[in-house]
Amino acid sequence: MAEIKSNKYLKLSGLEPLIVTTETNFVNVGERTNVTGSRKFLRLIKEEKYDEALDIARQQVEGGAQIIDVNMDEGMLDGVYAMTKFLNLIAAEPDIARVPVMIDSSKWEIIEAGLKVIQGKGVVNSISLKEGEAAFIHHAKLIKRYGAAVIVMAFDEVGQADNYDRRIEICKRSYDILVDKVGFPAEDIIFDPNIFPVATGMDEHKLNALDFFRATKWIRENLPYANVSGGVSNVSFSFRGNDKVREAMHSAFLYHAIKNGMTMGIVNPEMLEIYDEIDSVLLEHVEDVLLNRREDATERLLDLAESFKSDVRSNEKAIAEWRSGTIQERLTHALVKGLDEFIEIDVEEARLQVKRPIEVIEINLMAGMNVVGDLFGSGKMFLPQVVKSARVMKKAVAYLLPFIEAEKDGKSSSAGKVLMATVKGDVHDIGKNIVSVVLACNNFEIIDLGVMVPPEKIIEAAIKENVDIIGLSGLITPSLDEMVYLAKEMDKLNIKIPVMIGGATTSRAHTAVKIAPSYSETVVHVNDASRAVTVASNLLQPETKLDYAKKVREEYDALREGYLSRSREKNFLSINDARNNKFQLDWDSFEPIKPNFIGTKKIDVDLADLTDFIDWTPFFQSWELHGKYPAILNDAVVGEQATALFEDAKSMLYQIVTQKWFKAKGVLGIFPANTVNHDDIEFVTANGKEFFLTLRQQSQKTTGAPNIALSDFIAPKETGKQDYVGCFCVSTGFGVEEKAKEYKDQLDDYNAILIQALGDRLAEAFAEYLHLKVRKEIWGYASDEVLSNEELIKENYKGIRPAPGYPACPDHLEKPTIWKVLNVEDEIGVTLTESMAMWPAASVSGYYFANPNSKYFGLGKIKPDQVVDYAKRRDISVDEATKWLTPNLAD
Ligand code: SAH
Repeated sequence: MAEIKSNKYLKLSGLEPLIVTTETNFVNVGERTNVTGSRKFLRLIKEEKYDEALDIARQQVEGGAQIIDVNMDEGMLDGVYAMTKFLNLIAAEPDIARVPVMIDSSKWEIIEAGLKVIQGKGVVNSISLKEGEAAFIHHAKLIKRYGAAVIVMAFDEVGQADNYDRRIEICKRSYDILVDKVGFPAEDIIFDPNIFPVATGMDEHKLNALDFFRATKWIRENLPYANVSGGVSNVSFSFRGNDKVREAMHSAFLYHAIKNGMTMGIVNPEMLEIYDEIDSVLLEHVEDVLLNRREDATERLLDLAESFKSDVRSNEKAIAEWRSGTIQERLTHALVKGLDEFIEIDVEEARLQVKRPIEVIEINLMAGMNVVGDLFGSGKMFLPQVVKSARVMKKAVAYLLPFIEAEKDGKSSSAGKVLMATVKGDVHDIGKNIVSVVLACNNFEIIDLGVMVPPEKIIEAAIKENVDIIGLSGLITPSLDEMVYLAKEMDKLNIKIPVMIGGATTSRAHTAVKIAPSYSETVVHVNDASRAVTVASNLLQPETKLDYAKKVREEYDALREGYLSRSREKNFLSINDARNNKFQLDWDSFEPIKPNFIGTKKIDVDLADLTDFIDWTPFFQSWELHGKYPAILNDAVVGEQATALFEDAKSMLYQIVTQKWFKAKGVLGIFPANTVNHDDIEFVTANGKEFFLTLRQQSQKTTGAPNIALSDFIAPKETGKQDYVGCFCVSTGFGVEEKAKEYKDQLDDYNAILIQALGDRLAEAFAEYLHLKVRKEIWGYASDEVLSNEELIKENYKGIRPAPGYPACPDHLEKPTIWKVLNVEDEIGVTLTESMAMWPAASVSGYYFANPNSKYFGLGKIKPDQVVDYAKRRDISVDEATKWLTPNLAD
């Protein structure tokens, strides 16, 4: 053993010392005791099975881990508690406590909890300049006092370092601050210069590995005594599911990184091939990618990777078992489990056993899909799984199609032909896509006309394709009228095709009251994808269809009568009386907070900054998994499904963010404003005066409650106090449809729907993020606000951001005003359809009200006198106004 001459080596310890000298081989950090990386560990911690969790730590140490990384960052866990408890338990196990601990968390309080209990000298993973110098220095000082080493991420106020220059710039700056300002021992600094995926297909990722190697070398040469670490498995992210290729990539990456001076890293030892034993062809292809040695390196590795695919080591036993079944068992298993790896092989085998290739679909595949249908119907399988099954089915059918066509043995006998369309003016289609997939799974033939489909086109296609059912979808209120219009047109043409109605604003009541009376064939509301198959079958099966049509009609007739008589009972105030009962704020004592910024402004944001603001509950809802996040992940019924879906969502989100699949664009404005004539908000832009027109509640309150309009939250002009109002539009929709189409073209509806759902989530997250910035900085009326993400989602903030089309302001005609004053179309490229839906769909717009007394409410129904008044204020005809306000008009 070489003598250690200098003190300036990274010295860590558990019960035994770990000294990282120039002689030390690479130090590998065990990663299995990490709740974000190991589902098993997460489950054990959640279930408080700490004994078994300790076993995982022990196995790692026995397996050669020289440090163990411990991470308890999970929404459902009390991280401080779990970290403290687990580290205390480790301390009592000498065979584990032998090695130093790496306390891994993005939350300072968890890190500090860990620092308080570890023995020996551990490592904090990690701190960075992300939140600015002050926080960085503060944390570094505490770590120094606790006597730990620290991992510093190459991350600053602007974002993560993603090229060579940024890496060295941030590491140098961090180093200087630590050494000069904090007095941190240089040898206790470990840089993590970011390992990012390569072979993603994106040009900007070609240098990801090479830049890491170069930055590592630079750090080792220029920042004396500092070490370099990193999370290795990231590099092979594009090859998830292909362990052989991943193992080779990890080993080759490490080989080069270590040569350049990387001293430690988080690696799964099971996911490492011995460098010298890597297949030489594979190694050459892998190194071509890592070292960016040729233009076509990625394509070549992807091609080669295909041939290693079936070599996945994990699940080998399960696979062997599955593969030894009969052909029908194998096909059913593939469909139920959503596994497409062997589908073509199996389908080919099945094809050779039947007379006509079509029989593989009609007999074998349908038998499998029937199992899927039964499991789904009985609640044992959930929507995300069904969509994965559909993906396998599609691939199987695509494989068979050429054989079927060659045989010319006619069409498969489908359960029925269903036309699906999102109506004119509307752009939303996640729900429609889900229903299409579920129907297709059940042997219905789907003709999907997409979004914004004009009525003529729907009618023409329905006749030309001779469809059995028309499915209409819509999310915004004007779509309700479109559906009524379409029903009337079809009736005029004497079309006799049953119609299914679905989408967020649609309802059984609206279908019964407004659509059904306009159409002499059956109209039925289906808002639940899991019901779509039953309804469609009932509509078409010769034995049931007459009875079913009669039943639906009777049910809707009764519903309509009940609804109409009920709504007539309500009492309303005239608009004048409603105004006299407005929501009265005490303007005398009101002191408006002058915004730090007045005018309009474009907003740039990195997608990475939005992910923390995502409200996941609606995401699960869009997949018909009901329950609140994060509790839903542990739900007795849907927990497992929700967790699996969440994993998929997080990996896709990771790709969206790191590979910049979407662009986030936003614009906002804040203007001097006052209420005039009760219900109008007059505001002043650089180009002159404008008005937001608000609508006022008109139903008579028995409780003495006021009749509110949004204008009540802005100081009236006659108070003489200058108040303010804001508005915004944000979008993360640029790139969503393109990616969704790529997946669809690969017959992968699961990922197509997933990506659309994530687009919507990011747009809402952007709105949340921007609102926070407005409150704290741009307007600054709540500069000292401190709220957790949970509190944000619960809307516990001061002031509101109502969105046109939502209950307080259902008036979609307000959007053109926002578009005009913010110049939305030119600034960020979001456009409005004729129904005032925003395109791209993953967009959000709204107003900002700062008044602490402002709150969300529902307009409720209004009377014709307000419509007439509104038409005058907006300078449009009463007919036009009625058209837009119909959904809010009391009968
Ligand atoms: N966090 C949710 C928000 C969905 S509601 C999500 O991620 O999907 C969408 C937005 O509508 C809210 O954030 C708020 O801006 C607005 N909103 C809520 N209630 C409203 C109401 N009664 N009237 C007008 N806008 C409302």
